[in-house]
Amino acid sequence: MREKNPLIGKTEKEIHRLIIESNIKVANMFSSLITSTFGPVGLHKIIVDEDNFIIVTRDGRTILQNTHTDHPIEGLLLELAKSQDEEAGDGTTSAVILAAELLNKALSLMSEGLHPTTIIEGYRLAAKEGIKAMEELAVPIKNEGEKKKKEILRRVTKTALNNKHFIHYKNFFAEMVVEAVLRTVDFEKGEANANTDNIYLERVQGKGLRDSEVYEGLLIETRIVMPGMPTHLKNCKVALLDADLSAEAFSQGKLTIGFNLKDPEQIERNRYSYSLLKDTMESIAASGVNVLINHKGIDSIATHFFAEKGIIVLRDIKMENIKKIARLVGAKIVSDPASLFPSDLGHADEVEERKIGDFYFVVVHKKNAKVVTLLMRGGTKQVVDEVYRTIHDAVHTTVNAFNSSILPGGGAIEVEIAHKLRKYALTDKTRRQFSILAFADSLEVVAKTLAKNSGLDPLLLLLELRSEHSKGRKYYGLDVNTTEIADMMERGIIEPLKMKIEIIKGTMGTVQLILRSDDYIPKKGLKEIEEDLIKADIMEAVEAGKVREDIEEAYREAIKWFGREHVKDAIKLQGWEKVKKVTEMYSGKKFGHS
Ligand code: ADP
Ligand code: MG
Repeated sequence: MREKNPLIGKTEKEIHRLIIESNIKVANMFSSLITSTFGPVGLHKIIVDEDNFIIVTRDGRTILQNTHTDHPIEGLLLELAKSQDEEAGDGTTSAVILAAELLNKALSLMSEGLHPTTIIEGYRLAAKEGIKAMEELAVPIKNEGEKKKKEILRRVTKTALNNKHFIHYKNFFAEMVVEAVLRTVDFEKGEANANTDNIYLERVQGKGLRDSEVYEGLLIETRIVMPGMPTHLKNCKVALLDADLSAEAFSQGKLTIGFNLKDPEQIERNRYSYSLLKDTMESIAASGVNVLINHKGIDSIATHFFAEKGIIVLRDIKMENIKKIARLVGAKIVSDPASLFPSDLGHADEVEERKIGDFYFVVVHKKNAKVVTLLMRGGTKQVVDEVYRTIHDAVHTTVNAFNSSILPGGGAIEVEIAHKLRKYALTDKTRRQFSILAFADSLEVVAKTLAKNSGLDPLLLLLELRSEHSKGRKYYGLDVNTTEIADMMERGIIEPLKMKIEIIKGTMGTVQLILRSDDYIPKKGLKEIEEDLIKADIMEAVEAGKVREDIEEAYREAIKWFGREHVKDAIKLQGWEKVKKVTEMYSGKKFGHS
């Protein structure tokens, strides 16, 4: 017998409530998948992926990515983890755990009669106030002396490198990451920033973790085209081409270079295309190039010619890599090989082919170019992949710390903000007070989870921490290595402000979406539905005469802060201009041209 649909006979309001409740339960299920991985003593998960490959990881995003269900809530949490990863490079597990906790608390508030809209309002106020408080508490490090700055960065890196598997390699990797990050900084500039875009990560299975290295420059996975060419050149003049140097291209697709002696006409045409190709090769060589890198193919006759001239040739190189090399060596990407000028060439100190493990790489080496590549090594694919993920997080975290400021980890900042929010809640005499308090409680999930994973009693730990914070010890958190409550700044358990802010912002976006979704439409993720609605809103505005560039960005940002329905209401009352102004005020960003 088919089960009776539980929604039959319910009012619309009751149905909406049931759907939100069920969504929250699903969110909890997913978050509970990763809570045990959280923090330095977190456990690894063994996952068998779609291709029966075994992944060993404690990375939130990787776990959610490999859990395949068709539920939109899972999709939303995965999106949250992804966007956290993209915005801050670390903190994915924190974001998902916090989202689930905020939803849980919302559920209890709903059962006490609070409407989701009121809950969201309170959460938003709390988030804004919490971010403000974090900014006030954060300590900038840019103005510290060289030595102290480096020491702080090492501590930040080690806090991020909190993977049990690599515990004996923490110092080694921290040195490596800090060195890489500092190499991207142009200290000669006044306001110098570190730059994650200039730090590339590569991984090759084989050898041990300690064989991982930092290269100044780039590693491109490829081989030099011909054995006769040099495999190592110094003081290189590098040309970058996006040109088809195959014989076919020179005979306009009709012939290949080869001799069919039976057909005199063909010989004639071959001679023609050969002489064209030869002219082109001569003009390329005349530019003074000694390393030629092409996005497309190069004919074997041409490679012989270049080999004879002692020129290194790389072909079929991905455009993405060509662009990276262009930035590194300062070369222009040229698409007409006949017009390659000496001024189009870039400079590299050395170009060298190396066999690393079972793979061939060409190293484009350039000192002080502010571009580095970290090559991760490790005995098994599982180890290399996990160290790669861990180093990825550590690199982003270290860059963020260098560019912004730092906060205490180990649950300290969250307990401190909770403490402040509890006071702030009292200034609001509406029902929102309950939800501001719930937001404060939710933040403490960080300390509670760290405690739980260390085998401590989460509630007792929380009581102690709250008591310390009420006495003004604002940096007190849990050091899970010693299971002591201590000043996290002194212990060097520190994290970047940017990551902490992104956790709250991203989490709020997802929580609002889930609390507002009172309908369950399978197959199409809620995020996609929201996106369709946003696009429709923007189209409507454009049709009413607004300039898209002026409104779109501000509208999307406004939605992140206030939710779509609220923004729409505000537009009805006050017009698009007001939305832009208010959002600029809240986000501190500028939108549009006018
Ligand atoms: P996420 O994906 O959120 O970065 P992690 O598993 O990397 O999750 O854990 C990060 C948390 O671990 C942060 O809250 C950080 O403060 C905490 N942490 C790192 N090192 C320590 C430590 N020695 N003691 C206590 N907490 C720590
Ligand atoms: Mg982390």
